[in-house]
Amino acid sequence: MALIELKDVSKKYRRSTTALQHVSVSVNQGEFVYIVGPSGAGKSTFIKLLYREEKLSSGSLKVGEFNLAKIKKRQVPLLRRSIGVVFQDYKLLERKTVYENVAFAMEVIGEKRKHIKKRVTEVLELVGLKHKMRSFPNQLSGGEQQRVAIARAIVNNPKVLIADEPTGNLDPEISMEIMQVLERINLQGTTVLMATHNAQIVNNLRHRVIAIEDGKIVRDEEEGEYGYND
Ligand code: ADP
Repeated sequence: MALIELKDVSKKYRRSTTALQHVSVSVNQGEFVYIVGPSGAGKSTFIKLLYREEKLSSGSLKVGEFNLAKIKKRQVPLLRRSIGVVFQDYKLLERKTVYENVAFAMEVIGEKRKHIKKRVTEVLELVGLKHKMRSFPNQLSGGEQQRVAIARAIVNNPKVLIADEPTGNLDPEISMEIMQVLERINLQGTTVLMATHNAQIVNNLRHRVIAIEDGKIVRDEEEGEYGYND
């Protein structure tokens, strides 16, 4: 069954060109999908529509049980709870420890302290950072900070993990470590969508590739290649 389904979706920003034009695509539960394409093609817009950072201009968009063409404001937090998001620049809270950064995501939705402790420990173990749980972000390497961000994104068991250029600031070896973490999460059943410019990763760890150019899907292949020389 499709977890994410876009039908004829367009997005026009105010006073601007159309960022996405008549996009139709679906992604099933458990898939791993790379979103590739040149700068300005519409990759971030595609991703932002999914977690309601931006509203679609027309078409229909479903994520899980949510119909984003009709979603009410009060339902948006619920939608966001079903989606974990990771960015290029980590966005950790500098004054909180690794543990606190991850636990915070559970506290805001009212989880019990005991459950929080168990689950946070579990996800920190999954990303290989249990031993650093008392460290602060500025005491960690870039790769470690990204792993904390991933732990935070998955701690509430989202159906989808969305990563916008997660390896953009990391060197190749560390990028591969991040990919191993994402693959592990995918193997546990979480759908992963990753926008990337990293040809080496896309070509070496084969998954479905959706290429976007000028706001349109120009390629959609199982185990596809990166396909650009940038
Ligand atoms: P990508 O992530 O592939 O680099 P984006 O989705 O960021 O592409 O951008 C697609 C197009 O939409 C570009 O032409 C960009 O300038 C435009 N765009 C993106 N965000 C905004 C915005 N907030 N307001 C106006 N135009 C935007």
